Amino acid sequence: MSNHIFNFNTSYASLGNSFFELVNPTPVKTPQLLLLNQALVKELGLQMNQGDERNEIFSPELALLLSGNKLFEGSEPMAQAYAGHQFGYFNMLGDGRAILLGEHISPKQKRFDIQLKGSGPTPYSRRGDGRATLRAMLREYLISEAMHGLGIPTSRSLAVVTTGEKVFREEIQDGAILTRVMQSHIRVGSFEYVSHYLTKEDLITYTNYTLARHYPTEVTSPNPALALLKQVLIQQVYLIVNWMRVGFIHGVMNTDNMSIAGETFDYGPCAFMNGYDPAKVFSSIDTNGRYAFANQPSIAHWNLSCLANALLPIIDEDQTKAIELAKEVLNLFPNLYTEEYTAMMGAKIGFVKDQLSDEVVALIKALLNWMKENQADYTNTFLQIQSGIISEGIYTSSFFAEWLLKREALLTKQGSSLTQAKALMQLQNPLLIPRNHWVETVLDSVSFTNDLTQFNSFLTALQSPYIQTPNIEKYQAPPENGDGFYATYCGT
Ligand code: AMP
Ligand code: MG
Repeated sequence: MSNHIFNFNTSYASLGNSFFELVNPTPVKTPQLLLLNQALVKELGLQMNQGDERNEIFSPELALLLSGNKLFEGSEPMAQAYAGHQFGYFNMLGDGRAILLGEHISPKQKRFDIQLKGSGPTPYSRRGDGRATLRAMLREYLISEAMHGLGIPTSRSLAVVTTGEKVFREEIQDGAILTRVMQSHIRVGSFEYVSHYLTKEDLITYTNYTLARHYPTEVTSPNPALALLKQVLIQQVYLIVNWMRVGFIHGVMNTDNMSIAGETFDYGPCAFMNGYDPAKVFSSIDTNGRYAFANQPSIAHWNLSCLANALLPIIDEDQTKAIELAKEVLNLFPNLYTEEYTAMMGAKIGFVKDQLSDEVVALIKALLNWMKENQADYTNTFLQIQSGIISEGIYTSSFFAEWLLKREALLTKQGSSLTQAKALMQLQNPLLIPRNHWVETVLDSVSFTNDLTQFNSFLTALQSPYIQTPNIEKYQAPPENGDGFYATYCGT
């Protein structure tokens, strides 16, 4: 098999070596290809000898390449430098356990970072081992592909390779390497790094580079830094509204985990909410609830202020003026967010954007209050409203019956029908999300039986979450006793 699989053209290398360190992956003992994302292989236009697809027997060569034991032709591996605010505190970070193999140009001329995660130490590893556990990489694969299925911008997962080596965490675990694909790994924290440690010239270069890569229509803007801030803000509003639509809690919205292109990434302690609770937190390290469900928009806004702060030196020579200009852009956030969030929630109950009267807004608020009081399932409640057939549990309450009548009256008043509402809602309300108890169940089945059958059938269901497919019912039920003490851990 030829090693010429990716069409690498790594523009990041042209930025110069203050932006990254050249470093090769550290070979692992016995790499074995466990998962390969066939749909993504196609989308990226990769020529991979996939062996016998049906029996999932993959070419051993591919395992060597996707573990970093051998390099793909054209690869110039590097670890990128970045900083970031973690839980509010500034730190120098960088790719401590990830290595960029290169930027691949797809047949549609789209540029993608191809990165190995868990591929060994880099100059930015500090005390870390540069490795990742199999469980965490399978979890990232599953949830990132679920997010993609939900139609939410996200990093993708191309492959998981087991390393044949152990990783030492709270307990000894199997090691693995994930191949992560993103439009880029440029983060808010990347700008914080350049602004804090490099020169003003570097900041200008990096801003122009990023605009050309992600917001090419803005490269001729009279104020590139301000244009970048505004575009990132718009993408973040869109992204967070989508998270709120499906009940996703990222869990660790540090500025180094916030992508400039507006993709969800860094799937550490993330989880989906079952019963509606705006204060919901799953991450075991987020003891103050900084990254709770309902805090996500204000944290995104705060992170954008860190981006603004990093860009200040090049927004205007006069720093007072620069602050004023940056504030003007940052102040767009609250209204834009409220507008988009309201439109999304309106659509979740069947109202189109231009029908959002105060009465509809009040209707949404009343529903959310009731859902919170009753810990109503965030996904299934909207499906109940959508189906119109109410048969059990909290949905037989008089509040809910009256709420449905009010909604129907408002729809009629606005010249819409239940059928039209349903059609709109079906695009917003997934039938399926990766519920925590199922995520754990399928991960356990891989750990304990070494068998991917359950994992793969869950993954397949999650890839089309808006379509009623056979066998999805079992995945739709919330956990019997709620989320209880379900917690997600970071040290992965
Ligand atoms: P995260 O919490 O995943 O956003 O990571 C924060 C920082 O810690 C980044 O610089 C990571 O590269 C680094 N890091 C996380 N885990 C490890 C590890 N096992 N070895 C080395 N660096 C790590
Ligand atoms: Mg990170």
